Amino acid sequence: MGRVIAVANQKGGVGKTTTVINLSACLAEKGKKVLVIDIDPQGNTSSGLGVDKNNAENTVYELLLGESELSDCIIENVYDGLSVVPANVNLAGAEIELIGIPDQHYILKKHIEAVRADYDFIILDCPPSLNTLTVNAMSAADSVLVPIQCEYYALEGLSQLIHTIELVKARMNEKLYIEGVVFTMYDARTNLSLQVVENVKDTLKQNIYKTIIPRNVRLAESPSHGVPINIYDSKSAGAEGYRALADEVIESDVTGY
Ligand code: ADP
Ligand code: MG
Repeated sequence: MGRVIAVANQKGGVGKTTTVINLSACLAEKGKKVLVIDIDPQGNTSSGLGVDKNNAENTVYELLLGESELSDCIIENVYDGLSVVPANVNLAGAEIELIGIPDQHYILKKHIEAVRADYDFIILDCPPSLNTLTVNAMSAADSVLVPIQCEYYALEGLSQLIHTIELVKARMNEKLYIEGVVFTMYDARTNLSLQVVENVKDTLKQNIYKTIIPRNVRLAESPSHGVPINIYDSKSAGAEGYRALADEVIESDVTGY
């Protein structure tokens, strides 16, 4: 049975989407069967994987509103072993449209459970807020992977995120756990990055991945070409970083599936 991992942090610009695209691509490169579900109305994961999100007929929006089945939304094998359910700006309206719909927080879970056996990993890219979309992701997930940007305000908002995860766990999904924290955009030339890593390690009582994703311009460039880093620049520091993270994620399977 596939592991369902939500990549979440309500701060924007911390590397969620970059992590979803490239971790997923590196898992697929290692022979895993991966489904990426883009749950952010910005749709950057979809376009970063080369999907024409604005012309996609069946997206997460139609799925959540009950207008499409998951099988209609999946774009198969955009890269070998990597399939995508896209999102676009229409999803921004879903928050309001879902008000009053029974089980509105469990819609995604219901659909994911039906295809879970078909994949090794199902990776969910969350929007930068703790809204209905993020709660749908967390109620469907086995675990939450939290990217933290190596910058001065790294810890800001993290206690709120952890509180939200605990609330979802207590009320909706008792098996949910924090998969781990991954540092992103680490700049080896500055002391600040190092200080942030030390500070977060001292403060957070969570699993922290040994892999630290470096700041790497190739990672910032690759989305505009619609390709993940392992294909855009296979030997770059960014590609090596996400391959190492993929190894750790594979090894850290504690779900027992
Ligand atoms: P989020 O999804 O959390 O909002 P993104 O993954 O979109 O964050 O990253 C924000 C910006 O930082 C993007 O422009 C992205 O290309 C860039 N970025 C992310 N990770 C790295 C990295 N390791 N090195 C260089 N640029 C990065
Ligand atoms: Mg994003």
